[in-house]
Amino acid sequence: MKQQTRALHSGYTKDTQSTMAVPIYQTTAYEFRDVEHAANLFALKELGNIYTRLNNPTTDVFEKRFAEMEEGEAALATSSGMAAIFYAIANAAEAGDNIVCAAQLYGGTLTQTAHTLKRFGIEVRFFDVHNPEAIHALIDARTKVIFFETLTNPSIDVADIHQICAIADKYGILTVVDNTVATPVLCRPLTHGVDVVVHSASKYTTGQGLAIGGIMVERKGLVEKLRANPRYAHFNEPDASYHGLVYVDVPLPPFTLRARLSLLRDLGAVVSPFNSWLFIQGLETLPLRMREHSHNALIVAQFLETHPLVSKVNYPGLKSNANYANAQRYFDGGASSGLLSFEVESFEKAKRIVDAVQIFSLVVNIGDSKSIITHPASTTHQQLNSEELKACGVPAGLIRLSIGLEAPVDLIDDLKQAFEA
Ligand SMILES: *Cc1c(COP(=O)(O)O)cnc(C)c1O
Repeated sequence: MKQQTRALHSGYTKDTQSTMAVPIYQTTAYEFRDVEHAANLFALKELGNIYTRLNNPTTDVFEKRFAEMEEGEAALATSSGMAAIFYAIANAAEAGDNIVCAAQLYGGTLTQTAHTLKRFGIEVRFFDVHNPEAIHALIDARTKVIFFETLTNPSIDVADIHQICAIADKYGILTVVDNTVATPVLCRPLTHGVDVVVHSASKYTTGQGLAIGGIMVERKGLVEKLRANPRYAHFNEPDASYHGLVYVDVPLPPFTLRARLSLLRDLGAVVSPFNSWLFIQGLETLPLRMREHSHNALIVAQFLETHPLVSKVNYPGLKSNANYANAQRYFDGGASSGLLSFEVESFEKAKRIVDAVQIFSLVVNIGDSKSIITHPASTTHQQLNSEELKACGVPAGLIRLSIGLEAPVDLIDDLKQAFEA
């Protein structure tokens, strides 16, 4: 089945009322038929709804649909992208372990891994996403995850998925990949050998900047990588918190099952049924929108490349870009999503442009149908001096755009008048 069809139909068989739209099950709990039914549900002898912190029929449709779009086996939705990333890592690693991360990361992921996980006793070791060979030297017996982004935010690099997965597989280590910016429409990392995909649903999935949410998806057959793997003893030994359940012995996708039964149960970053419903509405048009975002961004990037005040344009869809080959290899049709950045000569010039645009909004978000502009040096990276800015690939005159669904000619006219400011 093609992505457009999955986006509209996967995971939903009409309920008892035959509603065309997926209903919102706005409920906390579910009635058990009798005590035996309740006992069977808790013992996983029978699968069914217990309590919305663990499962919900609306969220179930979102999870099933997203899993199919990622060509994975099962998914777990969470209250935010940051929660999905934390659960994916916490499902593999514990105090005393370490993870290996690409240095080109979303800001929240950088602080979660470098600061919060560190306080939980999980060490992070960074590698340059363009130099995966450096991973070998970072791995030891306590390495539990190799984490990277397919299309990085905000640096806009494209990872060589095969190369990184080949290294991870050699050591039997799980790969966890953030596919938020590429989306399952442009890239399906699980089909390239990745083990677990995570997303912020707050971006392209909702598509209109309507809700915060996240999701993780497990690849088909992941149980074989976990079974008898000494790195993941907790999947192979009885879980004392779930009456001795051994995750690899249950005929259910083990990574998702453990994240649900253990992490979602105990830490509780559950998505609301209403937000799941919004994400389902977003998915219906995701294939259409990603084509349009990519098309518009390429046109704007090509305009910027010819502008005399622009010294550099970062967009993987441009032939001049260092990531072009990886984008052609891993993204459907080489389409490269809606994120791009460009450099002007100075901090002051960048500020004047950002202040002068009319259609673009100054917002710290991406993936909205409305176009967004940000100036990292004066906002997200404000506390860094010019040397530090250069080191993390954020020059003072760098402007980031999230290209929306407006007519590209209007976006170009808006930028043209802003350049004159
Ligand atoms: C926004 C974002 C996140 C965090 O997601 P939230 O839903 O805001 O918690 C993680 N990764 C990437 C690439 C993002 O763009």
